[in-house]
Amino acid sequence: MKLIIDNLSKTYGNGVKALQNVSLEIPKGMFGLLGPNGAGKSTLMRTIATLQDADSGHILLDDLNIAANKHTIRKCLGYLPQQFGVYPKMSAEVLLNHFAVLKGITQKGERKDIVEALLHKTNLYDARKQNLGGYSGGMKQRFGIAQALLNNPTLLIVDEPTAGLDPKERNRFYNLLSEIAENTIVIFSTHIVEDIKELCNNMAIINKGEVVLRGKPLELIEGL
Ligand code: ADP
Ligand code: ADP
Repeated sequence: MKLIIDNLSKTYGNGVKALQNVSLEIPKGMFGLLGPNGAGKSTLMRTIATLQDADSGHILLDDLNIAANKHTIRKCLGYLPQQFGVYPKMSAEVLLNHFAVLKGITQKGERKDIVEALLHKTNLYDARKQNLGGYSGGMKQRFGIAQALLNNPTLLIVDEPTAGLDPKERNRFYNLLSEIAENTIVIFSTHIVEDIKELCNNMAIINKGEVVLRGKPLELIEGL
């Protein structure tokens, strides 16, 4: 299981070079993408998530070109965007069931089992009947992870998931991601160095669309 990003470039219509010859190899486990606002993290993640196309270069998931196989890739991909909106007047249980139907889990018994397991996994089972509008930031993010895991993805992409979480909620979230990364490629972006130190097996630092460093956090982060 491996994601290969090869020489990816993207320039927006306004001339902003969001990605410039980005190349990365991302194995199973937790991969952290560190960079300041505007570095190109979201652009890279949306491109991996097949939601936008690069101008040049390519991305392979286990030898499958993602841009040429979007339909197949989406079946094994989970994505939690930076601004993940929920319907505040719905309960987690009801909304997760809706998402499950949208993802093609139409068999009722199977859906019930999957939804229940994910509510347990994300520690939301006891709060499953509560409206999402009353959830804390950390609970909302865990709900976002639950919906991203509905199709049991091999690749999970999470964009700035810890922004706005307090230390306790961040820790809880770290534990959840670590568990998922035991058998999944998890890529997450952050501008918080601590996130990377705590969590990642591998990392890259991106700035102005370019990869400036890549490697193991323990080797790289001393100097940060
Ligand atoms: P981030 O917090 O990841 O930097 P942004 O605030 O840059 O995200 O972008 C939020 C949304 O606005 C994204 O969907 C992005 O594509 C869009 N966007 C960002 N910058 C521009 C821009 N200069 N022109 C048009 N759309 C933009
Ligand atoms: P990050 O996620 O690291 O904050 P982004 O990928 O959101 O970075 O943005 C990288 C650069 O591209 C920024 O300068 C941003 O303003 C610009 N950008 C992002 N989305 C768009 C868009 N849709 N149109 C034009 N410029 C964009």
